[in-house]
Amino acid sequence: MKIVLASNNRGKLAELQAMFAPLGVELIRQGDLFEGEAPEPHCTFVENALAKARFAAERTGLLAIADDAGMCVSHFGGLPGVDTAYYCTQFGYEKSDDNNVRALLEQMQGVADRRAAMVSTLVGVRSAKDPEPLIAMGRVLGEITTERRGTQGFGFDPVMYIPELGQTFAEMDPAVKHAHSHRGRATLQMIELVRERWVR
Ligand code: IMP
Repeated sequence: MKIVLASNNRGKLAELQAMFAPLGVELIRQGDLFEGEAPEPHCTFVENALAKARFAAERTGLLAIADDAGMCVSHFGGLPGVDTAYYCTQFGYEKSDDNNVRALLEQMQGVADRRAAMVSTLVGVRSAKDPEPLIAMGRVLGEITTERRGTQGFGFDPVMYIPELGQTFAEMDPAVKHAHSHRGRATLQMIELVRERWVR
């Protein structure tokens, strides 16, 4: 079975390919099949992931899976959410992981409620107009530290502290992070949904 992954991120592709291989599923990067990307105009992860999955299915005629991820900070009413990747640009910084962390630490200065969730939503469709998409949501609740800790990972990992593990994501072995991360949880759910509903 072939599924197009509506992402051009090679790291994500490799990670998902390894996890889907036991199902006999071949995941293909959308950039290897066509050019262009779906607009992501919505304010929820699920709507944006659905738009990306439908777009990839329409362009390729294949089954498609898309993801959308980000950080939801309690003190900001759940934002930055779908705008996480561009968070720092609203404060005049150039878009980068490093500037995102800098901006978040600045905006959280003196804030007592430091709870934040990392969220990953995966959506699968069998065709562009599939009325019954597969939806998997992974979430991990943590606390934003007051300074960076650790050197592993990417994005907000250095400031995402997971109380049960006593470490930030950036201090963890990558396998430990994966076992506890929003993405790891969403992926396991999606594999189960694909097995139940798409694989005969
Ligand atoms: P994307 O949709 O996976 O590109 O992620 C959206 C935003 O969330 C980017 O700013 C990422 O850096 C951030 N992000 C996603 N997953 C993680 C993670 O596992 N750790 C830290 N930051 C993440």
